[in-house]
Amino acid sequence: MIPFPKYLRLGGHVIKVKRVAGLIKDESAFGTWDDASLTICIDADLCGTLAWECIFHEAVEAANTAAELSLPHEKIQILGLLLHQIFASLMEQGQTKG
Ligand SMILES: [Zn+2]
Repeated sequence: MIPFPKYLRLGGHVIKVKRVAGLIKDESAFGTWDDASLTICIDADLCGTLAWECIFHEAVEAANTAAELSLPHEKIQILGLLLHQIFASLMEQGQTKG
């Protein structure tokens, strides 16, 4: 898997991605999206697939705000998971064979 991102580009914006200790304990969230500071925070203890799913979820939250999509949260959740699946499939070994 590629290194965890420091930022994401979304439209004309650069979204900062920060690892934050204690997010799950303090905010009962694996990740958060802050529209005012254009920052995604991901709990520092999350790793692997869960951390990446969380990034994609918060990125969809950011897109929902930026593009004024007004998606309900359950649709943000499924879209984040599907986008993560597409992203992960790009890294599969079968992509580089034959
Ligand atoms: Zn959410």
